[in-house]
Amino acid sequence: MTEDFPQPVDSALVPRFAGVPSFFRLPLVASAADLDVAVVGIPWDGGTTNRAGARHGPRAIRDQSSLIRRVNHATRVEPFRLARVADVGDIPTDPIDLQGALRRIEAGIEAILRAGARPLAAGGDHLTTLPVLRAVGRRHKLAMIHFDAHSDTNDRYFGENYYTHGTPFRRAIEENLLDPRRVVQIGIRGSNYDLDEHAWATAQGIRIIYMEEFVRRGAAEVMAEAKTIVGHAPTYISFDIDCLDPSMAPGTGTPEVGGFTTREAQQMLRLLDGVHIAGADVVEVAPPFDMGGITALAGATMMFEVLCVMAHGLASHRGRSGP
Ligand code: MN
Ligand code: MN
Repeated sequence: MTEDFPQPVDSALVPRFAGVPSFFRLPLVASAADLDVAVVGIPWDGGTTNRAGARHGPRAIRDQSSLIRRVNHATRVEPFRLARVADVGDIPTDPIDLQGALRRIEAGIEAILRAGARPLAAGGDHLTTLPVLRAVGRRHKLAMIHFDAHSDTNDRYFGENYYTHGTPFRRAIEENLLDPRRVVQIGIRGSNYDLDEHAWATAQGIRIIYMEEFVRRGAAEVMAEAKTIVGHAPTYISFDIDCLDPSMAPGTGTPEVGGFTTREAQQMLRLLDGVHIAGADVVEVAPPFDMGGITALAGATMMFEVLCVMAHGLASHRGRSGP
């Protein structure tokens, strides 16, 4: 609402293909001080079990995000006028030290939170969400709305590896970061390892909305239920790009056919309005498997949709509590 909020580069003066890419062409800043939302890259994919490459996600998403404009035409939200948003760069991570990378990611998110901002992260594989939850969930136990083809609540890999992009939410629940009765997973599908693959998750109280149920009920009804589940609790939004159909998002590590269209995903994210979003991410964009940047563009667009809801929420709250 004020003139001094960080603004994207004016594309009427500097063409979209020119300059050094940052998220949404926003200023690149060294710290999250004075920000409401810190957009941050987490270029790490050491938890990937199949096709690697999500470490290149943040750079490709930044590049494609140069196409995003200032106004959400559907909701009429102008996020960069409602909230102070900037690109705080990437969290540097060691690509071959898993536990070290998790510690660095947690520390990077901790710095954002300590500065008083909320993180909007671009992964990275889905294991990067665990250290983000460690930082955000330390402040308050979180609810979560999770869009994915996969539940990511597996226990382990190769017998003894507890940390992969298939396990983050099992670990997060064990570590008391998430309240499983306030967790909803939407878009789950694909072939499974076992008949009872999701038994642990549902026994904890996680609500799994499989793709077939989404097709039957539609976005409005599903999101109304999701919002009832998270209630007024601080909520994390995690968007795995593989929830989209591979025809619209081929650049990802574990594609599953029968996914959401980008339009359905936008519709759902817009319906998050009113949810108390404590942080969010878009993960698993793997540019080496992308074509023409369409997956990175989808990732950038989903980040914009989430950002619009976050900014609107922050501005409404500011409006209620005064300047
Ligand atoms: Mn995932
Ligand atoms: Mn997935």
